[in-house]
Formats: sequence, C-alpha cells, structure tokens
Amino acid sequence: MVRRKNLIAANWKMHKTVSEAVGFVRELQKSVGTFDDREVLIAPPFTALLAVSKELSREDFFLGGQNCHWEEKGAYTGEVSVPMLKDVGCRYVIVGHSERRHIFKEDDEVINKKVRAAVKWGLVPILCVGEMLEEREAGKTFEIVSDQLEKGLKDVDLLDGRSVVIAYEPVWAIGTGRTATPEQAQEVHSFIREKLSGSYGKDIAHSVRILYGGSVKPSNVDDLMKEEDVDGLLVGGASLEVESFRRIIEYQQ
Ligand code: PEP
Repeated sequence: MVRRKNLIAANWKMHKTVSEAVGFVRELQKSVGTFDDREVLIAPPFTALLAVSKELSREDFFLGGQNCHWEEKGAYTGEVSVPMLKDVGCRYVIVGHSERRHIFKEDDEVINKKVRAAVKWGLVPILCVGEMLEEREAGKTFEIVSDQLEKGLKDVDLLDGRSVVIAYEPVWAIGTGRTATPEQAQEVHSFIREKLSGSYGKDIAHSVRILYGGSVKPSNVDDLMKEEDVDGLLVGGASLEVESFRRIIEYQQ
C-alpha cells in the first residue's frame, strides 16, 4: 500500500495578474520549510500558468489548472484542453468545483467527461464533491456525496491511487468563513474512502488523497489535518496571501 503524501492546494480562482502570481510564488518558495510528508499545488488563472510554471523551482511544488475541457482540441471558444495544461507544466486539474457546478451549471456528466479526459491525457484530476446547506440539514450529505462521486468517476479506471484526488468541499463552507468541524470532515472523508474501496479495492482507496476544502485558515488547519482521512486541503481565500498560505502549508499535526 502506497503511503499517502498530503497535498496542500491553492485555488486562486479569478485572482492575480501574471506579475502578482510570479512574485507570490517566488516569495512562497523561499519562505516555506521543506517537509517530506507533504506537497504544494498552485492553481493560478490560465493567464498566469506559464509564468508560474517557469518560476516553480522546488520539487515539492506543483502546478494545476482550475478547469479544463474534455476534448483534445477543436472549435470550443474560450476553452482550454488537458494537453494544453500539460504543455505548460501542469500536473493537476481541479474538476467539478462548486463554483463550476453552480455558477456555470456543470453537471455530473460534464464533470465525468473532464475527469476521464484528465486521466486519459495524464493529468491528475482533483474531483470536488460536497453538499449544500439545505442538503446537510435534510440529512442528505452522504447521499449527495455518494452520487457525485459515483457519477464523477463513472468509467474511470484507476491504475493506482495517485491517478485521482478527491476534494470534499461542503458548499456551505466555501468562502463563507464557516468551516466544517474536523469531526464533520473526517466523517465524510472516511465515507468517501469506503466508497472508493468498494469500487477500486482497499489498496487503491487507501492511497487516494482526500482533501478538505471550505474556509481553511491558519487558525483551523492544525485540527483539520489531525484527522486520519484528511490528506490535505484545497484552499481558496487564505491561499491568496503568502503568510497565511505559508502557515497553512506548515500545519502541525
Ligand atoms: C475553494 O475555492 O475551493 C475554497 C475552499 O475556498 P475558500 O477556502 O475561500 O472557502
């Protein structure tokens, strides 16, 4: 069984110009200590990918796209393909973020096509799943997460547990300042691992990294990372400042 390396990912959303992105990465790489149990991922806007790629010099730092199209190329104005992301140095791509699901109306079928495209052309998709507040209050969290997971991973053959990352992001916690408690996160993460175990077997399920996302900040990171099935974080707002993201990367378990 492969030991899981934690992944701390920055999702910058629609923030930072090229020079801001490059300056940030330069400073972050200098200030973050080196740990052999964790990796760092930066997902800037498309416009800054190439410049950030050139600036990344540490072996424990990786680059990711925030979205992709499922075709290799073609007449899809405004879209970017997986091979194009690979070409600029990406290793990961975020797929099915709740902002893509809700603002841009991406459904599970589209998300599944993107996951399959990423795996096919050699990027690691970070598949985001998570319930809305009313779904949690109606006791439907497991049902929703299970459904999104099943549909998102439909017909995805995993060679090993490092071919995909799952991010549990309760929608009510994204950008709201309201974080899931470590117990709430652990409960859903262990449920996700069980589900993966049913589909892919125990060995693969135990090597898939399951990230938590939703208002992660320096003040709650240590407790979240103490949970057994929390293998990293997807961080939005708190990844935009070097000092707060550095502190998050340097969490203490
Ligand atoms: C996100 O965008 O994936 C996210 C979790 O945002 P925030 O950390 O700001 O809640």
